[in-house]
Amino acid sequence: MLANQVLTDWLAIHQAVGLNSAMQGWLYALSVGRNYLLSADEWAMLGSNSRQTPVVPACLQNTAISTNTRLELRQQLPRNSERFVIVGGGPVGLMLAVALKKLFGPRIVLHVLENRVNSEGQGTAFTRSWPINIPVSEFMFFNHPSGINSVAPLGEYLPWTLRELEGYLLSLAQSLDCQLVYSNEKTENLLLQFQPDLVFDATGGRWRAKGQLKKECEVVLCSSDLETVQGYCAFGVNPVAIAPSDARNLAVSVYDNGDCRPTLNGVPLSSWMLKIRGIPRHLGPVLIEKIRTINHDNWIYVWPTHLSSGEWIAFFGLRQNDAWLLQDEIREPLSFDQVRDNLSKLSDPRWKIIVKVLASGAVGHHSECRVDPPFLWAPHLYIGDGSGWPHQQGVPVIPVGDSLFHGHPQVGNGLGSHLNMINLLIQQLQRSNG
Ligand SMILES: Cc1cc2nc3c(=O)[nH]c(=O)nc-3n(C[C@H](O)[C@H](O)[C@H](O)COP(=O)(O)OP(=O)(O)OC[C@H]3O[C@@H](n4cnc5c(N)ncnc54)[C@H](O)[C@@H]3O)c2cc1C
Repeated sequence: MLANQVLTDWLAIHQAVGLNSAMQGWLYALSVGRNYLLSADEWAMLGSNSRQTPVVPACLQNTAISTNTRLELRQQLPRNSERFVIVGGGPVGLMLAVALKKLFGPRIVLHVLENRVNSEGQGTAFTRSWPINIPVSEFMFFNHPSGINSVAPLGEYLPWTLRELEGYLLSLAQSLDCQLVYSNEKTENLLLQFQPDLVFDATGGRWRAKGQLKKECEVVLCSSDLETVQGYCAFGVNPVAIAPSDARNLAVSVYDNGDCRPTLNGVPLSSWMLKIRGIPRHLGPVLIEKIRTINHDNWIYVWPTHLSSGEWIAFFGLRQNDAWLLQDEIREPLSFDQVRDNLSKLSDPRWKIIVKVLASGAVGHHSECRVDPPFLWAPHLYIGDGSGWPHQQGVPVIPVGDSLFHGHPQVGNGLGSHLNMINLLIQQLQRSNG
């Protein structure tokens, strides 16, 4: 049974790397967030040392799914059917669909359910126009004559926006006979219709019911010095609203729906952020120098990307009222020129400094400096309910992509880590398949 095999192999991958790396990523961000003002080399060095230091809270350890549970899950699966359903046709759902279909071909019938539909019931276009930052080599599995690997040489970064990648994956999935189902119908009803043997939740975490708090555990820091405690702000605490001393009240909360979130005084963290990309190479160091003395609260994260242009990227924490204001003004990625006046008017006075620096070298119609719409950052990690995966109509539901983990922008928040897990799964399945 392919469904059994996929389930078993995914559990192995998840156990070995997924959960651990997600958790490590979180705690890594937490413990070294204060060191954002480092060069790429320093980051790399620090990364290799610091990745070992975070301490996983005891209650979150040993969340691995036991062999017994795995066997039980396997026995629950029907033996003669090979129908897979992926709920969610975002980038991860589509990547997984392509990967599974390329591997198993006609041995599986694969439906991808997507609820982004217009009034006529047709799928609507993706709107996300931010570029991804993933090496082409990560997409080797998707190789296709007209495909990704011909877009840029190996070792380079894919010069596509997320929207372009999604469009590409969609046409690839369709050419491989994945069945795209656009519908607003309740997911559970659709599943009844398709009677799947295996379900993947690729909805970006939107399919889970709201959970009730199960337990809260204190986050253990690897150091007790105050500066490190302030590093909690890297966890996404709105730095304006919360004094560093409050960061002592940070905890990790575990919910009965299997979600796990960082909380402050019991309230899940969420914080408005703004991403500015395409910052010219020569402005990165200038920006860092300027903000050195005004970034005590981790308001801004700046780092060089791996894109061949050498551009830099920056994430900013936004005050609530500033976020609302920008939400009205920036509905799609705009050039820095188009938004600089709005940025100068924001209530946080530090924006004036940022605007001045960016304006000194990023203005003009040749500028690639873009400002994306503000977004709400609410980190979460899915750890299951302790007894295995959730089930739908007796069939296990495997969370993938943002449904599994949504973390910090600077440590694998995004497709890079999700894609890595899909690659590992496919390699494992190839091995299992002989
Ligand atoms: C501003 C911003 C910038 C980012 N920049 C980068 C970057 O530079 N590089 C990077 O790698 N990542 C980046 N990310 C993160 C990246 O966008 C996400 O990690 C990625 O989109 C997750 O993909 P996903 O398929 O798991 O979830 P999603 O992209 O959220 O897709 C989920 C899909 O499921 C559908 N859906 C939801 N519920 C249902 C349902 N019940 N039934 C059917 N369909 C459903 C949705 O319509 C959607 O199409 C960024 C994110 C943000 C917000």
